Amino acid sequence: MQPTIHLAFVDDWELSGDGSGNPRELQFQPMRELARIYEAHGVRGSFNAEVMQQLTFRKFQAAHPELKDFADEWEATVRQTFSAGHDIQLHIHPQWSSAEYRAGAWNLNGDWSILNYSVDEARQMIGGGKEYLENLLRPIKPGYGCVSFRSGSWCIAPSPHMLGVLAGLGIVFDMSIVGGVQYQTRRIKLDYSNCEEDFQPYYPDMTDARRLSDKNEPIVCIPTNHFYGSRRQTLQHHTRKAIGAIKSRTSAKSSPSGSGRTVETYGHEWAQDETLLQKIYTRGVRPYLKGRHLISDLAQLDHRLMLEMLASIRRQARAARVAAIPVILENHTKDVRDFTHIERFVADVSSAPDIKCVTLTDIAAGIQSGAFQIKTRAK
Ligand SMILES: [Zn+2]
Repeated sequence: MQPTIHLAFVDDWELSGDGSGNPRELQFQPMRELARIYEAHGVRGSFNAEVMQQLTFRKFQAAHPELKDFADEWEATVRQTFSAGHDIQLHIHPQWSSAEYRAGAWNLNGDWSILNYSVDEARQMIGGGKEYLENLLRPIKPGYGCVSFRSGSWCIAPSPHMLGVLAGLGIVFDMSIVGGVQYQTRRIKLDYSNCEEDFQPYYPDMTDARRLSDKNEPIVCIPTNHFYGSRRQTLQHHTRKAIGAIKSRTSAKSSPSGSGRTVETYGHEWAQDETLLQKIYTRGVRPYLKGRHLISDLAQLDHRLMLEMLASIRRQARAARVAAIPVILENHTKDVRDFTHIERFVADVSSAPDIKCVTLTDIAAGIQSGAFQIKTRAK
């Protein structure tokens, strides 16, 4: 049986993790371009709007009028995208919680992981963000609600309270788990290398989203998709990206109006604190055993890797032996350098008979109507 894949194109819509970059270049323009691509192929996309950044711009706007211009344009862009039929959902980066703004630059002092905040602080950030988006969008569509969540830097587990806070606020599902992700960085420590489920929707253990509950729970987890890219495609892609990095470094020097975000910015934010031996294992040995672990983040993939991702999704969907399955992709407008790969991929899937392109709100409705099978731990 070939199940129907309910595929959500999801974008985490935000500035760089350290607050740097120009919102027009990293967010507003590429959001319009992505929306154009979706619309050309009859697809509705979903954007996880990072709200802490926006609320911080508002907080400082009286003293800094340029921040007010950006915040107004942020709202106008979100409203316009939502009015065109795309979905807007909630994304939170807590490092904005104690931001300073000096000489036109942000200094984000807050801890990057929401897991390191108290239950009250977490509830305040998530509840405040949800309320803000709902107030912004309900004038356009009265029934609008934040029904899904993705945590900044994937930080959801383990936590004694995060899933309970989300469920208490009416969030239907969380998509912060990505199987195989493991970070030991300066800012983020996460270990999702042994998740009990990394593809299908499931009821989580309420204190550790990496595990399955043995019963129904008030919230569902749907992992963000990942796959193992073939050595050949991964190597070709990384060679092309390395050449692109050299080019972008050269052009950044020659254009003072650069977006302030380069391939190096991404590498620096996510540099792992690894020993030499670990490095040799993760870069040199593991890829040869399993293929290279890749988050299904379209901004980091070329078209050929996207097709490998799709083949992996279809293989796992068949193995799940269900009639319908939701699959959640990732993207970052701030990192997209060449939209042609995404456009080809959107064209591919929009005409595939076994794929239905849906929004996050559609998936939440599917969970609530019983359209998807939600796993629990077998008793
Ligand atoms: Zn993010």
